[in-house]
Amino acid sequence: MIKINENYSKLKASYLFADIARRVNAFIAANPQKPLIRLGIGDVTEPLPPACVEALHAATDEMANRATFKGYGPEQGYAFLRDAIAQHDYAARGCSIEADEIFVSDGAKCDCGNIQEIFSTDIRLAIPDPVYPVYVDTNVMAGRTGLNKDGRYEGVLYLDSNAANGYVPAIPKASADLIYLCFPNNPTGAVATREQLAAWIAYAKANKAVILYDSAYEAYIRDPKIPHSIYEIEGAREVAIEFRSYSKTAGFTGTRCAYTVIPKTLMAYDSAGNAQAVHPLWNRRHTTKFNGVSYPIQKAAAAIYTPAGQAQCKALTDFYLGNAKLIREAMAKLGLPCVGGDNAPYIWVNTGRDSWEFFDLLLSKAQVVCTPGAGFGTCGEGHVRISAFNSRENVVTALERIAAALK
Ligand SMILES: *Cc1c(COP(=O)(O)O)cnc(C)c1O
Repeated sequence: MIKINENYSKLKASYLFADIARRVNAFIAANPQKPLIRLGIGDVTEPLPPACVEALHAATDEMANRATFKGYGPEQGYAFLRDAIAQHDYAARGCSIEADEIFVSDGAKCDCGNIQEIFSTDIRLAIPDPVYPVYVDTNVMAGRTGLNKDGRYEGVLYLDSNAANGYVPAIPKASADLIYLCFPNNPTGAVATREQLAAWIAYAKANKAVILYDSAYEAYIRDPKIPHSIYEIEGAREVAIEFRSYSKTAGFTGTRCAYTVIPKTLMAYDSAGNAQAVHPLWNRRHTTKFNGVSYPIQKAAAAIYTPAGQAQCKALTDFYLGNAKLIREAMAKLGLPCVGGDNAPYIWVNTGRDSWEFFDLLLSKAQVVCTPGAGFGTCGEGHVRISAFNSRENVVTALERIAAALK
């Protein structure tokens, strides 16, 4: 008899976006004449940078010609892209990361979901709350948690991010083996300082643990004191894996390209307590289960590192940060405390009331869709996430409507 993986039945159904859709659809049905503005989405709205589009077209033409056609490429990514990443994203920031420590993939979501496979199932997890749900759910599927009780899985060490700690979790007293961190953060938009990251690295070393560092929003950092990579901090090569994505950097959410960095000096331990390098494990996993990102897409990604590509990506992220600034200013005027938006495309608003109640208020009175914080974890209650991913016109109109609704 074929049996299911019963860990899947522990998963708390993600009602968040389904619930939002249900409430939004009911509103539209009842008010067809009132146009909605969606500031709930975590997806970009602006088209690809022209440098990427040109590279994509040129690479497509190469694929149409017998002399330049490409079949399977290296599973870990073409050297032209891995070298560009090592040079521009790491060497230029003083980080020593070799090209062969970089694994190109079709998304940071799959990478941060798949990485747990190479670690034992009987390890202790530390996961932030609120959180990008992928980190938790993939560990539930793998059987690393107990049941969900009152919104939290048994056996997980939750790292509370709240107004009291500035939405950057404190170092826990208890020990953990695998630690998930995401800065700039989704959903809060909070960033971590060098000192805060150094403290996490010290904690990981003391616990012989590994940090999984998701820096998908690194391109939004404008404060020169905030590190873009965890490898800017001393000791990170021994304890941290970093995930990056072109999704929010260059509008690649529908194009698909990302990468993961595993330093060769990063160790994990076998049951006898012997240190083993993690790099060969992930290399084995990646080459066994993945056949590489398509050549035209890797060419488009490499174009991000040309002078034109760099300028266009900066303009793109500047544009969304311009929206974010308007949102922050509007919240301040309304007397609603918030974080994020200065080094991230999300603004995390402390609504001082139930997050679904505030969502319903914005929907019915302002026809604006946000994301209720409770959907990201227990600590998200009392907050909403407002996204800067939209046109300037829509953001301005939405903020006028919100101001009028909350008067
Ligand atoms: C958007 C996002 C990613 C990027 O995922 P892709 O699969 O590369 O599109 C990764 N982590 C977080 C927290 C995100 O919000």
